[in-house]
Amino acid sequence: MREFDYIIVGGGCAGLSLAYELEVHEKLIDKTLAIIEPRVEYKRDKTWSFWKVASHNFDDCVKQSWEHFSINIPGKTNHLECKNYPYQSIDSGLFYKKINNKLKKNKNISFLKNINEINTKNSFIFNSVPNIQKKHFNLWQHFCGLEIETKKNVFDEKIFNLMDFDCEQRESVHFFYTLPYSKNKALVETTWLSRMNDNSQKDYDKQIKDYIDKHLKIKDYTITYKEEGAIPLFYPIDKKEKNKINIGTAGGMTRLSTGYTFLNIQEHSKYIRENIENISNSKRFKISKKYQFLDDIFLRVLDKHPEKMSIIFFDMFKASPKTVIKFLSNKSNFWDDLNIILKMPKLTFIKALFY
Ligand SMILES: Cc1cc2nc3c(=O)[nH]c(=O)nc-3n(C[C@H](O)[C@H](O)[C@H](O)COP(=O)(O)OP(=O)(O)OC[C@H]3O[C@@H](n4cnc5c(N)ncnc54)[C@H](O)[C@@H]3O)c2cc1C
Repeated sequence: MREFDYIIVGGGCAGLSLAYELEVHEKLIDKTLAIIEPRVEYKRDKTWSFWKVASHNFDDCVKQSWEHFSINIPGKTNHLECKNYPYQSIDSGLFYKKINNKLKKNKNISFLKNINEINTKNSFIFNSVPNIQKKHFNLWQHFCGLEIETKKNVFDEKIFNLMDFDCEQRESVHFFYTLPYSKNKALVETTWLSRMNDNSQKDYDKQIKDYIDKHLKIKDYTITYKEEGAIPLFYPIDKKEKNKINIGTAGGMTRLSTGYTFLNIQEHSKYIRENIENISNSKRFKISKKYQFLDDIFLRVLDKHPEKMSIIFFDMFKASPKTVIKFLSNKSNFWDDLNIILKMPKLTFIKALFY
């Protein structure tokens, strides 16, 4: 049976980001790598968006970048600027193509469909397949997005809408998210933060079509792409093993209050590459305990008081957008954190400490 120095289980965002990072920094010249990925074909399946608070390898896969955004609750809109940290959207189709073209050129890298094809005993494993045990009380961010093209120019491509809470909440937290790529092309998503046990929330197509029709007031359009997903707002089981590191969602790279994962995956890949020569003994990379603690309280409030969340998100953005973005992207300092905490309803959050 074949053996490899490194094995990456799952050639998705985290697996491929890590392989690319190792390859471009010449860490695979005299090491072998197997990437285990069952999918038959790579095609565009996700749009990864984030505020660019750190550099990454995929600027050439960015579909659109914005320096302005808005957030709405019924009757109120806040327009905000993010020039310091532009919001970027990455097309997963371009990302997969760029990485696979690069990796194919290295003979030390093999693509396999099943881990049973190889002997793993002497390898170091990077695993991106999450071990999720579904529990009824777990919260999820579940969503569906339609990319639409219109005949007329109806969008302002200079400003995206981060959250529009002016919609049915159905005793949960629900908002729409619109990314205008050009004057006649946009991704419109319906997003729910809930325990995902209410099937009535999953009539996504109807929700988006109604929103496009009644809210955006667009009648004439074609659907060019669809994406759907559910991000766990809890950590998958991450057992510490000497010769294995979990990466991506499996490795706890999701910020639980927001679902943002992409940039954390890039930072984790960089950390692994910097420590690859002594990876078994290196300290494990984690999202800092501070954010784990604050997100835990935030999600307790969300679970207990879904009806308060639209105002809480809206008020949070009354702090300077730079501060909020740093906070949501794990880059905030003590003063930034304090500024955000002061915008929260204090009694509700203090009570949440004791739920
Ligand atoms: C539709 C969607 C949109 C998202 N948008 C954003 C966003 O805008 N911003 C953001 O920061 N985050 C976003 N996320 C969250 C997160 O960034 C993505 O889920 C990201 O793809 C996570 O990377 P990953 O490598 O952990 O998982 P994946 O990219 O899902 O990769 C896991 C891989 O493992 C493979 N696999 C499955 N089973 C096995 C097996 N048994 N053996 C081997 N391989 C297996 C899968 O085929 C897949 O390729 C989004 C998630 C989804 C689902």
